[in-house]
Amino acid sequence: MAVPLSYCGGLAATNAYLVNLDGHRLAIDAPEGFLDFLKKKKIKPDSLLLTHGHWDHLWDAADLAAWADCPVYYHPDTAFLCLEPDSMLAFGLPQRLRPVRATQLLEESGPVPDSWSGAKLLLVPGHCPGSLCLYLPAQNQLFGGDVLFADGVGRWDLPGGDRDQLLSGIRKKILTLPGNTTVYPGHGPTTTVAREKSSNPFLLDS
Ligand SMILES: [Zn+2]
Ligand SMILES: [Zn+2]
Repeated sequence: MAVPLSYCGGLAATNAYLVNLDGHRLAIDAPEGFLDFLKKKKIKPDSLLLTHGHWDHLWDAADLAAWADCPVYYHPDTAFLCLEPDSMLAFGLPQRLRPVRATQLLEESGPVPDSWSGAKLLLVPGHCPGSLCLYLPAQNQLFGGDVLFADGVGRWDLPGGDRDQLLSGIRKKILTLPGNTTVYPGHGPTTTVAREKSSNPFLLDS
């Protein structure tokens, strides 16, 4: 099973990943420095998925998409942040960022691009409106953005956040995946569904 290429950078130590789907290079999120990292490795992604529109995940997105000349995808509910990232200046964003236009908006139940062979999207809001997790059943991998972390969950105190929505979404859509699914989160180390199900302090009380 292929391990994705991972990168961590920017003020919030945000993770980005590059997954190879039958030769199609899908980049997941674009924190500060990810573009330079890819340039150094001479890897041009074929597409870019933004798990959600928080500034630490889309910092390099517009420049990356222009450089790689690749399509950008995100969920419609997070478009307001991608198109107006400066609205987060009051919430930790240290400088103005370029807006990121989607080539195509993706719904949880709608089709994913053909080249993302076998990928499924899970919509788990509550940390951020329109938060998408990318699930690769054949690879047993979940790219969760800021939804579920090792021993943690995404913060729910930013605009559009909702604790109950977040926790119920995680229980319904993520904890029901096979226990050996590796979770690649937006921050911190990788974990598994089984580990979080049995020991994540935010998920133990029900
Ligand atoms: Zn976030
Ligand atoms: Zn984040």
